[in-house]
Amino acid sequence: MIECFGDNPDREGLVLTPARYATAMLDLTKGYFDNPTDLVNNAIFNEDGQLVIVKDINFFSLCEHHLLPFVGKIHIGYIPNGKVLGLSKFARIAEAYSQRLQVQERLTKEVADAIEKILTPLGVAVIIEATHFCMIMRGVKKLGAVTKTAWMSGLLKNDTGAREEFYALLNH
Ligand SMILES: [Zn+2]
Repeated sequence: MIECFGDNPDREGLVLTPARYATAMLDLTKGYFDNPTDLVNNAIFNEDGQLVIVKDINFFSLCEHHLLPFVGKIHIGYIPNGKVLGLSKFARIAEAYSQRLQVQERLTKEVADAIEKILTPLGVAVIIEATHFCMIMRGVKKLGAVTKTAWMSGLLKNDTGAREEFYALLNH
């Protein structure tokens, strides 16, 4: 890559760059080694409850088309069906799926599917707001453009009241 850019890979500042880059990329994609079902071990509790929202989980991911970052926030809501999950585990689930080569749409669904599988709740909603560096640094150069995606299931998809409560709490 360095040669393609027209720079000299042997100059002092660049000699170790390929190794550093490889290490950094492995670090940014370490989510492939996470199994979300293991991550939540010992953090599932038998509780009844109503709508739970975990808002503003910061994440970093890599767009699989350009290997450039996209960064933003994940908001998760669910309606328990007798089981709840320790709150910090939602951030771990978000991390496991964001630290892979991703597209925002799939990341949204994968986080929702993992919660679905782990808790079998009455409904799940995942919303992601992100800025894509492949959009702001190149091509259309839309500085500040934010992409929003949503995935909903169960009551949070089909019950208007539940969905409105979710949005009301989210925007509060
Ligand atoms: Zn991209």
